[in-house]
Amino acid sequence: MSLFNKELETLSVEKLRQLQSERLREKVNILYHKVPFYKKLFDIHNIEPGSIKSVRDLYKIPFTKKDALRDNYPFDLFTLPRNQLARLHCSSGTTGKPIVVGYTKNDIEIFSEVVARSLAAAGCKPGMLLQNAYGYGLFTGGIGLHYGAEKLGMTVLPISGGGTEKQLMLMQDFQSDVICCTPSYALTLAEEIKKKKIDLSKLNLKYAVLGAEPWTESIRAQVEAGLGVIATNIYGLSEIIGPGVSQEDFEEKGSGSYIWEDHFYPEIVDKNTGEPLPYGEQGVLVFTTLTKEAMPLLRYWTNDIASIYYDKSVKRTHIKMSPIAGRADDMLIIRGVNLFHTQVEAALEHITELSANYQLVVTNDGTMDEVEVRVEVEASLYEQLSKESNEVLSHDKMVFALNHLKKKIKDDIGLSMKIVITIPGAIPRSEGGKLNRISDLRK
Ligand code: ADP
Repeated sequence: MSLFNKELETLSVEKLRQLQSERLREKVNILYHKVPFYKKLFDIHNIEPGSIKSVRDLYKIPFTKKDALRDNYPFDLFTLPRNQLARLHCSSGTTGKPIVVGYTKNDIEIFSEVVARSLAAAGCKPGMLLQNAYGYGLFTGGIGLHYGAEKLGMTVLPISGGGTEKQLMLMQDFQSDVICCTPSYALTLAEEIKKKKIDLSKLNLKYAVLGAEPWTESIRAQVEAGLGVIATNIYGLSEIIGPGVSQEDFEEKGSGSYIWEDHFYPEIVDKNTGEPLPYGEQGVLVFTTLTKEAMPLLRYWTNDIASIYYDKSVKRTHIKMSPIAGRADDMLIIRGVNLFHTQVEAALEHITELSANYQLVVTNDGTMDEVEVRVEVEASLYEQLSKESNEVLSHDKMVFALNHLKKKIKDDIGLSMKIVITIPGAIPRSEGGKLNRISDLRK
């Protein structure tokens, strides 16, 4: 059984709603009285804190966006003085000052609880060895996973991201059961294993818990084959707590990730109008934190695009979310068509001649936007074909793969793209962290 906290993970939806509403009332009251930003927000919009009686009333409250964190840098969104906090983290933020988040001891307890639940859902068990290749430091990933794994009763190897040689050495010598890292770094590890001809029977890996960036089934297939694991998706963001806001169950792969709803209340809203969308429709994920003490947020606009839905025939009562298609601000608009790089990645699935190492290069010749998909030929096919010919990239198999991908992209996405197949190693790799798949050369 992969449930860490059976009582809460299987609470009836009715009881869950009661618990959420109770917790929400408490948070609204604290925020109104302790955080000037929220007092002002409520007052300007004539919202009486007492009128927020249940999660059904949330729609009355305006969204909190990233700007609020920037404007209140560094500590003005905290409900408590800085000296009563146990920890600070920062998320990168694209330019200038970082986004700061704070935790009380109890918040760290909550963080550990949701990560422990997530790891259990991913297949992890007490006693297993977790090679934690998420970055340690200001980023919430490394330390977040670390505490959660300890709470579950795992042994943690805090190796952090990067240092691929050492990762592989310790993975073999210590017989790690689980690896957690970004999906792009998992691909890097899988490739190195292949390159170094390390026999998978020398490894003991069973599970990979991957997150911090969007990924699709084509990466899952390559990571699972390359590392000999079951790979599942962990999602989260610093503002809400860090990784462990939601997690896919290893026995329900592909059907979405459970959101730990007793702590984080999710909504999906239209990215242009902010109107709530029905279950199953894709829009911006919005979370209200129901238990966090130091920096609770009401209706936080994550900018991540997904859908949420209940999946009845399953182990838990909590709502599920789809994989993230991308961040709203990373969405490309190409000749009027909205495009996330994950859509191109999805088109690569089942094209066995090609690897999941790809990059999109966007240009504009003065009149029209063009997308070039650069993708590597699958490494063992390349090796095999190079024995036959010096012109691997113009081999019939490559021409076939190129046309196959071109057609799939046109059919699935509705855009014509230029496809360039490259030799293995030509596309940038993750060296431990998140990987940028888009090179936008438009002015
Ligand atoms: P930053 O990347 O800005 O430093 P975080 O480390 O808090 O900040 O990253 C959170 C963001 O990472 C999320 O909002 C989301 O865009 C992305 N992310 C995290 N986990 C996943 C996942 N499993 N799938 C897709 N995107 C993810």
